[in-house]
Amino acid sequence: MTTIAPATMTVRRIPLTEPYLGGNERAYLMECIATGFVSSVGPFVTRFEEQVAAITGRKHAVATMSGTAALHLALLAVGVTRDDVVVVPSVTFVAPVNAVTYCGALPIFMDVEPQTLCLDTSKTIEYFARACVRRVDGATVDRVTGRRVAAVVAVDVFGHPADYDPLAAACRTRGIPIVADACESLGSQYRGRPAGSIGDIAALSFNGNKIATAGGGGAVCTDREDWARDVRHRSTQAKSDPVAYDHDVIGYNYRLTNIQAAVGCAQLEQLNAALAAKRHIAARYAAAFADIPGVAVYAPQPWASWNCWLPGIAIAPDRVADCIAQCRATGIEVRPAWRPIPLLPMYRDCPQYRIEHAFDAAAAIVNLPSSVGLTAEDQEYVMGTIRSVLRV
Ligand SMILES: *Cc1c(COP(=O)(O)O)cnc(C)c1O
Repeated sequence: MTTIAPATMTVRRIPLTEPYLGGNERAYLMECIATGFVSSVGPFVTRFEEQVAAITGRKHAVATMSGTAALHLALLAVGVTRDDVVVVPSVTFVAPVNAVTYCGALPIFMDVEPQTLCLDTSKTIEYFARACVRRVDGATVDRVTGRRVAAVVAVDVFGHPADYDPLAAACRTRGIPIVADACESLGSQYRGRPAGSIGDIAALSFNGNKIATAGGGGAVCTDREDWARDVRHRSTQAKSDPVAYDHDVIGYNYRLTNIQAAVGCAQLEQLNAALAAKRHIAARYAAAFADIPGVAVYAPQPWASWNCWLPGIAIAPDRVADCIAQCRATGIEVRPAWRPIPLLPMYRDCPQYRIEHAFDAAAAIVNLPSSVGLTAEDQEYVMGTIRSVLRV
């Protein structure tokens, strides 16, 4: 559909996060066609996995068709089954919670930190101590449901890393694996370590709205060879013989194609430039909204280096809907944070643990446009519009 604007009026459209394809994308795609490697095997898939492993500092990276597929395979690899519970944050994109459900397990919703909206790790540790018991085999069992706690999923919200170290210490003594949803945090660091390198296994996304895209895609990163092998096996229909149609577990067609990997390789080459652009954009928002009463800028914790994937502000929750509607009416794509997952119909009846901050913290957020190619002029327009909407 095209909108015809009167000649005197310029209609701006400022998307939230739009891909920037300024590098070798075209050349690599032409190479796929010239060589005939367009499907799920090919040199770009291998190269993409090597680049992801290098950037995240992991021994193994397995490419997948999406971040959601990566999360599903990561949960299966660490041994999540249908009789388990998995601790998940209450505020997140829905995909990691759905992935827990794909495994047949039950999510248990944990609170989030009010500043970062990431999993509240101290409350998770408190949950282990107060609401779980140790079984004779050493497993940690949720007292209410009687189910084993098979994993904790931590999500790096808006690209900001969760606070992993205290959680890792508590999980290690209990043998509970941490699955890091690093789908938004490529390029961030947690206490000097790259996103994707933290947790026992991590999932990345290369969806179109992320800091680097493959058109669509994902990756599972881990240092454990057995898990990497398991992920690769299940992602390729769990073939147990290269020729005969033999399969030993339920597999999936979760592979990344060489065409997608070609785009992904070109994007990863430009990651540092994308990070610099995103950080510049976030710094300008921070400066513009720093001293405005009633507006708090989403800002990194001192121990984090944030990729600034999705900047935002926190305002009075009762003004969020109006602010978003007014901005969108002028072509500025701002968005609220995700509706807390325990409020969604399919997760309403799942167990929760002492949620105090999640609902209010999420309700205050307005995420702001941050495409790598956002011009200074367009950003001024965004900031001016928000100031006038908020009358500040
Ligand atoms: C994008 C995203 C996903 C899912 O990734 P896809 O590649 O879109 O499947 C999962 N978790 C979070 C936090 C995300 O932002």
